[in-house]
Amino acid sequence: PAGVGKSSIARILARDLGLAYLDTGAMYRTLGLRLDDVALDGDEAGRQDVMRDLHFQLSGQGDDSHLTLNGAPVGEEIRSEEVAARASRLAVLPDVRNFLQSAQQRIGRNTSLVCEGRDMGTKVFPDARHKFFLDAAHEVRAQRRFLQLQAQGRPADFKLILSQILARDEQDRNRPVDPLRPAPDAIIVDTGPLDMAGVVAAIKAHLKV
Ligand code: C5P
Repeated sequence: PAGVGKSSIARILARDLGLAYLDTGAMYRTLGLRLDDVALDGDEAGRQDVMRDLHFQLSGQGDDSHLTLNGAPVGEEIRSEEVAARASRLAVLPDVRNFLQSAQQRIGRNTSLVCEGRDMGTKVFPDARHKFFLDAAHEVRAQRRFLQLQAQGRPADFKLILSQILARDEQDRNRPVDPLRPAPDAIIVDTGPLDMAGVVAAIKAHLKV
């Protein structure tokens, strides 16, 4: 779910394991910026026209993993909660999910990955060697986001962050296609009582490396 720390954890694991890191949320967010409201609200033909010309690629590994769209790096402009809400809106659309899931599987065919996203273990890579589902109470997740924004010197309002996290979770858990839920064979890690190093250690304890 939102704010659980999955990007930071996946990035550290990729670095330590020498594998490429794929942030699939970044793909939904980037598409959220590319598609206008008309395309987002129901014009499937218009969406297809835009998506046909979009090509995601992943190069490098560990900290040096780079996701590009049509050759241009996916940048920091996707990191706001407004863009995340837009991503969550388009993530309910089956044609959008198909498009991005195919791109993710194509990347995974040629590259060993640490990847993160709500449907990795249930849908995109059902045969993944290892699956982990990170969780924490929503207050904990909101508090982490709050501290992260504060540390970056950006405006942070705890109540607003909490309501945004709850709204996004609600949408992601209740959508009919590929809702946010653990795969039956995923190991659930409650990150609430752990710091980042603790989560990484808990995951590594399950890896035969
Ligand atoms: O993970 P992140 O917060 O960047 O994801 C943004 C949004 O994209 C999520 O709230 C979710 O709606 C959507 N998403 C998804 N499936 C994924 C990754 C992201 O539905 N694999």
